[in-house]
Amino acid sequence: TIGSDVLVTWLRLADAAIAERADELTELDAAIGDADHGTNMRRGMAAVVEAVDAGGPGGADALLKKAGMTLVSTVGGAAGPLYGTFLLRMGGALKDVGAIGSTSLADAVEAGVGGLVARGKAAEGEKTMLDAWYPALRALRGHPEDIVAATRAAADAAASGRDATEPMIATKGRASYLGERSAGHIDPGAASTAIIVDALARAVA
Ligand code: ADP
Ligand code: MG
Ligand code: MG
Repeated sequence: TIGSDVLVTWLRLADAAIAERADELTELDAAIGDADHGTNMRRGMAAVVEAVDAGGPGGADALLKKAGMTLVSTVGGAAGPLYGTFLLRMGGALKDVGAIGSTSLADAVEAGVGGLVARGKAAEGEKTMLDAWYPALRALRGHPEDIVAATRAAADAAASGRDATEPMIATKGRASYLGERSAGHIDPGAASTAIIVDALARAVA
């Protein structure tokens, strides 16, 4: 099991990895969007870490709610409110959970995915971040006894999910304006999700 300290480590590792790969995310968004995903995510994650540093210790619930609210308020565009809602819902699901095991983590990610769907009204296969989150969630569920194996499998599944967005035609978000011309490019939000889930696996390991 893990405690909220590991979730703090997760947010820090995610911030560092997003900052390192921001140009790559922006390039992906330049192909099928408006070339701001890396900038949006870097600004948002930096604000999250700042907020976490400013606040006192709290449980997983308070931590993720603060992180989620920070993302919603600092990141314009689609992804900020989506990731923000994800973290808010994830925090809510961890409200009365003490030590977080693989199953409670999967429950929390499922709640987060529910938030994404509620907010963005997309389904799997529409070339969005959901195409990385759903495989990650299924992989987590595949390892109910082992949170290290579960999060590693989730990171690998998210990366495969990211790659699988390449041939898809976007039917939600800005990329959908391109119609069939959106095919042949990896979805930037699926790419940032793969980075964030990989950071989770490294924090848990
Ligand atoms: P914007 O498109 O407003 O510039 P970003 O570039 O930061 O915002 O984020 C774009 C990403 O957001 C897309 O690559 C996609 O993964 C995700 N996204 C967009 N719309 C939706 C939606 N309705 N549901 C889920 N994810 C979405
Ligand atoms: Mg964009
Ligand atoms: Mg934008």
